[in-house]
Amino acid sequence: MTDKQSKAREYVLADLVDATNEVDDAMNLLTEARYPVPAALTAHLQAAREQLAAALTIAKQGDAYRPRCAHQCPNHAHTCDRTPTHLSDHRDQQQKGTHTCSWPNEPDHITIRISGGSDDLVEVEGCEGADEFNCWGIGLTGWRGDLIGGTDTETLRIYAIYNGIWTFAATASDESLPMPDWPIRITDHPDVGHSALVEIDAPAGTRLTNVTALGGDR
Ligand SMILES: [Zn+2]
Ligand SMILES: [Zn+2]
Ligand SMILES: [Zn+2]
Repeated sequence: MTDKQSKAREYVLADLVDATNEVDDAMNLLTEARYPVPAALTAHLQAAREQLAAALTIAKQGDAYRPRCAHQCPNHAHTCDRTPTHLSDHRDQQQKGTHTCSWPNEPDHITIRISGGSDDLVEVEGCEGADEFNCWGIGLTGWRGDLIGGTDTETLRIYAIYNGIWTFAATASDESLPMPDWPIRITDHPDVGHSALVEIDAPAGTRLTNVTALGGDR
């Protein structure tokens, strides 16, 4: 815990104790009251007292402030208790004598890389359907492909145009469909001087389809 966090914890603990005392005072007043007290009122105060006690228990645990992965277990109500950047399986909190379980840490996103190879080749990596595609044409060398996400309505259309340097564009596949909000990075290719590098963070399971070479008279 950082200094700031332990300071915050100290204040929260003090406030919870104050709040508990206030509720206790209110309950004592009602107990001593010489007028009829609605049962629901007493019940709510009693519930508040129990909730505050539960909050206090959590606030006292130093371990409660540790950042967690919190990935939802697919089979139970618990979440992953490991650190946010952990590798391998997710795991629930392990306590003596209680049921524990783990579940696979499958990435929910994949990164798809697209770049130009030679002057008539487009390379796609990182998804189903990825390959090297020949796309030579007279007048215009270009390439088009659709990345289809988990649902068929999530489609990102990629264009690659060669004009001495491979250039890329992304758009919706149809005017009636939104363009997916997948993060797209276009940077200088570290290894290929005549191409940019496109990196797309798409949902796991995204596949490449509808690949077409642009330009004619091949
Ligand atoms: Zn579980
Ligand atoms: Zn986890
Ligand atoms: Zn289990």
